[in-house]
Amino acid sequence: MRNNFFEVKNVDFKVGGKTKVANVSFAIENEGDVICLLGPSGIGKTTILRTIAGLEKIKKGSIELKGSILSSEKNNLEPEDRNISLSFQENSLFPHYTVEKNILLGAERNKGKKDHQVSYQEVIELLDISLILNKYPHEISAGEAQRASLARSLVTQPDLLLLDEPLSNVDQSFKEEIQEKLKKILKSSKITTIIVTHDTYEAFYFGSKCGIILNQELKQFDDPYNVYHLPNSIEVVNFLNRGTLIPAEVTSPKSLENKDLGTITGNFVKPFPIGSKVKLLVQPEDLHHDDKSNLKFQVIDKKFRGTNFIYTLRTPSNKLIPVFVHSHHIHQHEVDEKFGVKRPIYIDHIVCFK
Ligand code: ADP
Ligand code: MG
Repeated sequence: MRNNFFEVKNVDFKVGGKTKVANVSFAIENEGDVICLLGPSGIGKTTILRTIAGLEKIKKGSIELKGSILSSEKNNLEPEDRNISLSFQENSLFPHYTVEKNILLGAERNKGKKDHQVSYQEVIELLDISLILNKYPHEISAGEAQRASLARSLVTQPDLLLLDEPLSNVDQSFKEEIQEKLKKILKSSKITTIIVTHDTYEAFYFGSKCGIILNQELKQFDDPYNVYHLPNSIEVVNFLNRGTLIPAEVTSPKSLENKDLGTITGNFVKPFPIGSKVKLLVQPEDLHHDDKSNLKFQVIDKKFRGTNFIYTLRTPSNKLIPVFVHSHHIHQHEVDEKFGVKRPIYIDHIVCFK
């Protein structure tokens, strides 16, 4: 059996003597993979990164990198012996050094063992910080400081890079561009990375795997596609907040019945016995709009998202159902109007919970 590049096995992550996330296991299979950890504020994401970096100890389970144990009840490699770089959520630049000197300090720590080097120049250009190199941390914006600390972490060429909400202070207008560039650097330099974020789309963009942390547990650790389309629990559905659960009854191996929508056919992700009463997940892309349909519901909200609209419809039994429509749909619907839903309803992956 091949070893994983990095692995957390049955670890309780603690801070101040209290367990924040219990019995966590996940792995990064290959060097150069990027994974993301997502979860609400205060759940313990930073604690997980600090523990992996060696700043918090563990009493249960183990953390292993390249086949060696970093942390366990008996072993605890010092942070400086780990070749792990942690880029903190808050500005951690040295205030008495210029941005350039701060980044060069990172380069000095580079032990130069990797085949795929990322050059100082490349990082400066990609993160667009050449104009602030001579400034001091108090002379730059929060977003610039984040990019500078990111640059410092990247040039250290660590075995494992830990990024704590690395782009949370970067302007929205600039964020996508920086995300693309960061992804490119991580890929070309093959730096194995764990990114903590509370931005779902950021996690889906970067992560070959995404871990969702809720209620003191790592609830799901899976491909972004699966996290979104095949959420493994109601908690994950509620956290992603893009769908609605409606009551339904399983009527055959390929269909269910809901009072408001009628018959829904498709493929069950997990089989349920005929007659089971379940909660069916309806996501914005599951239902299709059709002006000619006689299945009509009232529009109670409409969100313009640029490339699309999300209409919220109210069913007779007072369920709120989101429906996605491309924004070039000529005929727009206003709040309180009736909105047609195409029949028959077919959902490719039927996700239900008991
Ligand atoms: P997140 O990064 O997901 O927002 P954190 O890991 O920073 O969460 O914190 C998790 C919880 O632990 C929070 O409730 C926080 O207040 C608490 N906490 C963080 N640091 C300490 C500490 N040094 N001592 C005691 N409690 C802490
Ligand atoms: Mg945090």
